[in-house]
Amino acid sequence: MINADLHCHSRFSDGVLAPADVARRAQAGGVALWAMTDHDELGGQREAREAAEALGMRYVAGVEISVTWAARTVHVVGLAIDPEDRTLVEGLVATRGGRDGRGQQIAERLAAVGVPGAYEGALKFASNPALLSRTHFARYLVESGYAESTSDVFAKYLAEGRPGFVPHEWATLEQAVSWIQGAGGVAVIAHPGRYKYTQLEFGELFSAFHDLGGRAIEVVTGSHSPDQYREYADVARRYGFRASRGSDFHAPGEGRTELGSLPMLPEDLTPVWQDWQ
Ligand code: AMP
Ligand code: MN
Ligand code: MN
Ligand code: MN
Repeated sequence: MINADLHCHSRFSDGVLAPADVARRAQAGGVALWAMTDHDELGGQREAREAAEALGMRYVAGVEISVTWAARTVHVVGLAIDPEDRTLVEGLVATRGGRDGRGQQIAERLAAVGVPGAYEGALKFASNPALLSRTHFARYLVESGYAESTSDVFAKYLAEGRPGFVPHEWATLEQAVSWIQGAGGVAVIAHPGRYKYTQLEFGELFSAFHDLGGRAIEVVTGSHSPDQYREYADVARRYGFRASRGSDFHAPGEGRTELGSLPMLPEDLTPVWQDWQ
């Protein structure tokens, strides 16, 4: 099995490195097949491909689309897409369009619990201001001493149910899958173990995704525990989904997972890259 890493971020969304630097890190981690999947954004794709090819890695273009399903956020990764596809590009412009207003609301809520100036503070960390993310708020709050790490900021302020959380309507599941398929790509449910759905809702999500043409889920990801690798390997078998693997790398020293470092997929699963040339 090849070392594929099909989920990570650059400074075009909430990562911190330029695409070429993420590429070097992927190569150093032994990655042979790579995709960079910025949130709701394709701006780094050309640089990522050129860097990957110069380093001798196979590259597929990728994106991670923010979706609202059953009142919660789900991330749908698109792999082997055409990054120039008009409908996809326009859909992503619309999807990220609400981020600035949401960021202002997050800052208002943070100010109400004693954290002033967070909008301006977060923007300083957003190298792409069109893609203001909760991660940028988290980095600002760490810098300002409100928490020790970005994951502490989420636990204290930014996760659902915490004082700085602002509900948001992203793309629909149907839109995300159809944009990805229209751009020639494969739709993949990202890190399913992170969503707080009931068992019944999970069943409905996987069935709805499958009926729309979704064909894969992430099994081995930096967001899953080893127990969750087994749990979602079973889901892949049950629904006939192909399996994907990705670190979800964002920044050196932030989170635990380096590019290319995760366990391989279980041998009996069909990898999402099976038919790629
Ligand atoms: P947004 O798209 O602005 O809602 O931000 C979502 C991003 O926040 C995810 O892509 C992760 O990078 C980050 N994130 C979400 N939950 C956590 C967490 N518990 N700890 C650290 N980062 C998180
Ligand atoms: Mn992220
Ligand atoms: Mn995600
Ligand atoms: Mn991600």
